[in-house]
Amino acid sequence: MGNLKPRLTCFSAAGPAEYDRQNDRGSLRTIVAGILFIISAPSGSGKSTLVSELRKQVSGVDFSISWTTRAPRGSEEHGHEYYFTNREEFERMIADGLFLEHAEVFGHYYGTARHSLDDARKQGHDLLLDIDVQGAAQVRRGMPEAVSIFVLPPNPKVLRTRLRNRSRAEGQVNESELYRRLSEASKEIENYRDYSYILVNDILDRAVAQLEAIVLAERYYRNSEPIAIRSRRVLEVAAACRQANSQERLKPVLDAFGIGSPPGQQQFNFDEDPDED
Ligand code: 5GP
Repeated sequence: MGNLKPRLTCFSAAGPAEYDRQNDRGSLRTIVAGILFIISAPSGSGKSTLVSELRKQVSGVDFSISWTTRAPRGSEEHGHEYYFTNREEFERMIADGLFLEHAEVFGHYYGTARHSLDDARKQGHDLLLDIDVQGAAQVRRGMPEAVSIFVLPPNPKVLRTRLRNRSRAEGQVNESELYRRLSEASKEIENYRDYSYILVNDILDRAVAQLEAIVLAERYYRNSEPIAIRSRRVLEVAAACRQANSQERLKPVLDAFGIGSPPGQQQFNFDEDPDED
């Protein structure tokens, strides 16, 4: 299963700094290890819940708080879920080179501040970025050693129900926005091939355990970090989530979203029975 040779990988905005711990002559000893994890998912895939569960269960992972120009939703607070700002300020930050990556999603800017990476590195922590597929592609280009994870909803119906429930909870059921997000989801899912690991978020506990296993397995492979008695099982769970090992598991999900089908032959139509949920 993979390369079991213990290695230490340090993330760096300038590119990967990687060396064999066994060959270390001390020159890099002061650099603290940190793994950069990227998690992406279509809106409504349950990614936020997964990430907050991971936060409770695994220590040593920092979570980057993004900047956005969208308005706060529900109980969201500045500096908690996001740093909220306006377009003018965001564009000034782009011009000043303050972002590691940024993208426009659903008509609003979102971006990861470079200092998130530096802060995590100073602490010797891993860092998790919850970013969209465009941002993930930008980060991967600069830092190919990043570990990327794509979360899929189990099928379009579940996705539609989750999106509608979320809109209701926020007191605003906007059918055209719902439809836009559903259509966008199918397009985003096509990018799953660019990610190292794929999670299907049908049973929350299982998906959380898989996410945790991916983090622990990557620490083990890169930092030779011990993962105790559960290690074998953890490595197996993580390996099963590797994209290369997931084709059979993913087929029904991708089929349901019409990914890979010729245009017009998609199995699910988002317009069907709109009042059913
Ligand atoms: P929401 O507005 O629902 O919180 O997020 C919408 C989308 O923006 C999600 O796919 C989320 O992952 C993405 N997103 C959040 N922060 C960032 C960021 O810093 N950069 C990029 N590229 N996407 C982000």
